[in-house]
Amino acid sequence: MRKFLIAGNWKMNNTISVSEELMTGIINAISNKSKEDLKNIKILVCPAFVNLHKATLIADATPILVGAQNCYPESKGAYTGEVSPDMIKAIGCDYCIVGHSERRTISNESNEFINKKVKLLLATNITPILCIGETLEQRQSNNTFNVLKEQLDCCLSGIVAEDVAKIVVAYEPVWAIGTGIAATTKEIEEAHFWLRNYLNTNYGNAISEQIYLLYGGSLTDKNVDETFAIKNVNGGLIGGASLIVDKFVSIIEAAIRIKGI
Ligand code: PEP
Repeated sequence: MRKFLIAGNWKMNNTISVSEELMTGIINAISNKSKEDLKNIKILVCPAFVNLHKATLIADATPILVGAQNCYPESKGAYTGEVSPDMIKAIGCDYCIVGHSERRTISNESNEFINKKVKLLLATNITPILCIGETLEQRQSNNTFNVLKEQLDCCLSGIVAEDVAKIVVAYEPVWAIGTGIAATTKEIEEAHFWLRNYLNTNYGNAISEQIYLLYGGSLTDKNVDETFAIKNVNGGLIGGASLIVDKFVSIIEAAIRIKGI
């Protein structure tokens, strides 16, 4: 049976009341799904920091998991405006997105900085969702796999195999994020095959098979079936479509349909 993680990245959207409505809408909409339906399917939402605590309270005793969109790679101290993994953990979050292309671009985050976050998150028992992906220019110059290798080599540097097993990797081609132009089935298939192979070569088959490989980039209810049918895809990191209950739930339903095939 295939395993899936369906993760919604709400980005800088939703005031507290809208965030609560969205949480409740998703919970209500999946309330008719059985334990068997949701077996091997994790559902995660990542609201903005200010809405996180309330989201964990609403999600309590439901199948929904709550994660953060970012963290700072220090435990505490004079880092004005930043939030530590300890703080995230203390309000009940077990996941945190790192390396998102918007942070790499807008906040100039380097692979070295992301590596520090991954290490501290693991030490805090929070699952990092490590985003990697190439720009259009890098793809067009045939550098996709060089870029993915550099990102993984550096972001996973100094992390032992048994900890790498706990990380979720999200392949998100930068040109597909928020553009409405998702990667083709062939492009996703090639990238995920390469990723599984990279993990296998570096950490062994058992570890490689444990790792969730998500696809992200304009994934919607319209293209999800073909994407989730790809063997090495274990779910999605979803931006725009995760803000609309019906679309997000349709993506969860696709995972339910496909996991048994
Ligand atoms: C994302 O932000 O990670 C993302 C994939 O966004 P979208 O689904 O809107 O392309």
